[in-house]
Amino acid sequence: MKADASTEITGEKLEEFQHILKANQLKVTQPRLRVLDTISTKTSAISQPELEKILGSEIDRVTLYRILANFEEKGILHKVFDLNGTATYAFCSTKCSADHHHDQHVHFICSVCNSVFCLDEIALPKVKLPNNFSLHSIAINAVGLCDSCNEKQA
Ligand SMILES: [Zn+2]
Ligand SMILES: [Zn+2]
Ligand SMILES: [Zn+2]
Repeated sequence: MKADASTEITGEKLEEFQHILKANQLKVTQPRLRVLDTISTKTSAISQPELEKILGSEIDRVTLYRILANFEEKGILHKVFDLNGTATYAFCSTKCSADHHHDQHVHFICSVCNSVFCLDEIALPKVKLPNNFSLHSIAINAVGLCDSCNEKQA
């Protein structure tokens, strides 16, 4: 009974998530809502293993994998690799759409806890390419200590 109360998504949050799904022609399902809700409570990007730990009893691995792949394809989430090469997921900017990601920002990765943060306010440099090269994406990672790891060190 307790678990039900904590997993129920209501009010503005529910409306917002329903809107995101509908805007991307996705059916509103409980697993999709739960994935959006879980990611929205995190300040850093979240990996599939972390999501499995939280949602494993509700959503099987294959479904979770499909939801994440689908959300990435639709421009709802973008993928960032942490220092171990594990994919982590963060919400896209509203400018992102299917197959067109505009998450042109620097990511910060903590070398102690391996958390990935989007630094939305830092834009990536324009890259001048040789003739006939075309650019698909740029990734710049800043590596250092996050605030909570800094606190622990002090
Ligand atoms: Zn994006
Ligand atoms: Zn850290
Ligand atoms: Zn990002």
